Amino acid sequence: MRIVVLVKPVPDTASGGERLRPDDLRLDRAAVPAVVNANDEYALEAALKLTEAHGGEVHLVSMAGPTAPETMRKALAMGAASGTLVTDDSLAGSDMVSTTRVLAAVLRGIEYDLLLAGADTSDGGGGIVPAGIATLLGLPYLSYAAKIIPDTEAGSVRVHRISATGYEVLESPMPALIVATQALGEPRYPSLKGIMAARSKTLDTNSLADVPLEDGAAVGGAVSTTAVLGSEAPPPRAATRVIREPAEEAARQVVEFLADRRII
Ligand SMILES: Cc1cc2nc3c(=O)[nH]c(=O)nc-3n(C[C@H](O)[C@H](O)[C@H](O)COP(=O)(O)OP(=O)(O)OC[C@H]3O[C@@H](n4cnc5c(N)ncnc54)[C@H](O)[C@@H]3O)c2cc1C
Repeated sequence: MRIVVLVKPVPDTASGGERLRPDDLRLDRAAVPAVVNANDEYALEAALKLTEAHGGEVHLVSMAGPTAPETMRKALAMGAASGTLVTDDSLAGSDMVSTTRVLAAVLRGIEYDLLLAGADTSDGGGGIVPAGIATLLGLPYLSYAAKIIPDTEAGSVRVHRISATGYEVLESPMPALIVATQALGEPRYPSLKGIMAARSKTLDTNSLADVPLEDGAAVGGAVSTTAVLGSEAPPPRAATRVIREPAEEAARQVVEFLADRRII
């Protein structure tokens, strides 16, 4: 199986998280070390398990800034075989439309049976890039996957899609785009052997000029349809009241608290 996983480098929230640049209020990606978007690690883990079970390889695709190779090597160390990166100064500040167009254009030049992505990112958090890519490429879109069952002989794939009441079973021909969830299993830690091997794995780095965009498709920060106009910290929370009483008394006090505030 040939599986492509979309991975986005995002600011490491563990190291104090995101900062906006004072001049244009864009995310200051240089200020904080980057990590692979957590949801994309789940997608990558699922892809690695599928290729371990059915044979084949995992290829990474990313659109990101010039420091992205370092972050993508973390995903290569987990076990992906190779990667494609599109990096270009003109793409800084891209909105989701541009990101979707650029990734779709790159994917038109790559062969795959399955395309896996995360549900959303911890920085932009839009949650629509995969659906946009599936639309532009005319791919079946299978979201919120808790289980992925390919039938390589039939050329189809079944997904258990998480729903409010449990899950639905969806089936489509391959190639298809699947949005992964954490239910697919914890991502592995790269082994020392994996980290060493990642250094020599192929990471194909392209500029925007190398990407065969659809005719007339304008992309990049210069055509971004959204801009951050301001940012302020959320108001401090009201004092928290902790109730340490036996169950019955605690329940009575909670009900009283809610009733006083006309919540119940
Ligand atoms: C604070 C902030 C606010 C933003 N607000 C907006 C906004 O309101 N509207 C807007 O259009 N843009 C916005 N952006 C820009 C947007 O984040 C980028 O365009 C981004 O590359 C794609 O959107 P996302 O991160 O929300 O992706 P999502 O749609 O949340 O991503 C879902 C999945 O798609 C894949 N994916 C997404 N981006 C990439 C990538 N660059 N490379 C590889 N795979 C990827 C990953 O698998 C990811 O898990 C914002 C960015 C920031 C930092």
